[in-house]
Amino acid sequence: MKQPINIFWFRRDLRLEDNHGFYEALKAGKPVLPIFIFDETILSKLPKNDARLTFIHESLQAMQDTLKKEYNSSIAIYYGTPEIIFKQLIEIYSIESIYTNRDYEPYALSRDKQIETLLTTNKIDFKTFKDQVIFERNEIVKKDGTPYRVYTPFSRVWIDEFRRNGLLFFPSEELLNNTLQNSELPNLSLKDIGFQEAKVKVEHYTVTPTLIADYETTRNFPAQDNTSKLGPHLRFGTVSIRKMVDEASKQQNITFLKELIWREFFMQILWHFPHTAKDSFKPKYERIEWRNNETEFKAWCEGKTGYPLVDAGMRQLNATGFMHNRVRMLVGSFLCKHLLIDWRFGEAYFALKLHDYDMSSNIGNWQWVAGCGVDAAPYFRIFNPTTQIEKFDKQHDYIKKWVPEYQELTYATQIVDHKEARERCLRVYKEAVS
Ligand SMILES: Cc1cc2nc3c(=O)[nH]c(=O)nc-3n(C[C@H](O)[C@H](O)[C@H](O)COP(=O)(O)OP(=O)(O)OC[C@H]3O[C@@H](n4cnc5c(N)ncnc54)[C@H](O)[C@@H]3O)c2cc1C
Repeated sequence: MKQPINIFWFRRDLRLEDNHGFYEALKAGKPVLPIFIFDETILSKLPKNDARLTFIHESLQAMQDTLKKEYNSSIAIYYGTPEIIFKQLIEIYSIESIYTNRDYEPYALSRDKQIETLLTTNKIDFKTFKDQVIFERNEIVKKDGTPYRVYTPFSRVWIDEFRRNGLLFFPSEELLNNTLQNSELPNLSLKDIGFQEAKVKVEHYTVTPTLIADYETTRNFPAQDNTSKLGPHLRFGTVSIRKMVDEASKQQNITFLKELIWREFFMQILWHFPHTAKDSFKPKYERIEWRNNETEFKAWCEGKTGYPLVDAGMRQLNATGFMHNRVRMLVGSFLCKHLLIDWRFGEAYFALKLHDYDMSSNIGNWQWVAGCGVDAAPYFRIFNPTTQIEKFDKQHDYIKKWVPEYQELTYATQIVDHKEARERCLRVYKEAVS
């Protein structure tokens, strides 16, 4: 006879504690088989030494170790398409329900729909929960029920709602005894799924009361390197957003909390306007005549534009998988405005390289720098790559670190003249949008 169980499907929530869907599964009364599926559709597009894959793998192994040592259980890890894996699981077990946390990206939504259909045909419930955000979908909308397109009013209502409702935690860590007793479940090495261990690792995060208190004054200076590095941890759920919001909201200065709200703002934009995954939020910006010069794009990617702060940012990204936010804004603006290269090229390059790549934040921010998204600054505001140094890297510490040759003859000559590029940008944008 098949063993009756519930399944919890880990996706972008790789932690045993304060995990909403996992908690609901663990308290539902049947032994819970936790699973993770390395989705071959996603993996086939990634470089073989992708640092994010190493991070996911290590996070899963750490959870497995805890479950094996302390609960004689484990996480079953598979490789394939979710549909085929679920068909196999249905053969092995008598499954009452599949529990999982909601994912709002377009691919995830269509994948989950397909899985739900398969499960319904087999009389299995598919139960999904809100976990990676404080507010989702239609929870923060205007009085007329339409979504906010501007950050400030969205954040105001977000904070009001948050203060009204407080935070609810989901102590899954207290119920781990209810996992299925079997430590011999399938496991996979990185090699088994066709990957190698990355040399450059995802960094640890730091969120201390001091970091939050100082954040407003230090966050704009890339040389200080004083931001939290939370990005990948929120992306893959190795830390709970509730825990971070709790920390941030306890401090008097809420600038850090407001950054976490930017993340939710862009998530709800992508969910309400899925066309922005590929197209500009503002349709008339699709008429811009991008130059898309391949040599210039290559120089930008390699950090060889002759503009030291731009080059420092791109070299930091290439070497570490991280780039400071201030510099992301500058390199993004430089690509779209100075070089007139379509924001989608930059978005794709960041998607490949950033350890904290998250579709909604990346697209939202790229459209913001290109001027074609929600709440974007007017297109005629163009960052000056030289005066930005004066403002944010006055002592040149960041530049010296990443572009040590910046004052030598060997340093790249400027790829475009700032004044000419600025005028060209204004002309081309104006033609498209007026
Ligand atoms: C062109 C461009 C592309 C970007 N792509 C991404 C991306 O793919 N993934 C990503 O998480 N962030 C992206 N950002 C936003 C921001 O640069 C990063 O979140 C931040 O630099 C990550 O460093 P940190 O974790 O130390 O952030 P901190 O400054 O410590 O902020 C804490 C957290 O708040 C959130 N946050 C902060 N700023 C933003 C923002 N502007 N938009 C959305 N969330 C924010 C992030 O979750 C971040 O980890 C992008 C910004 C630009 C200009």
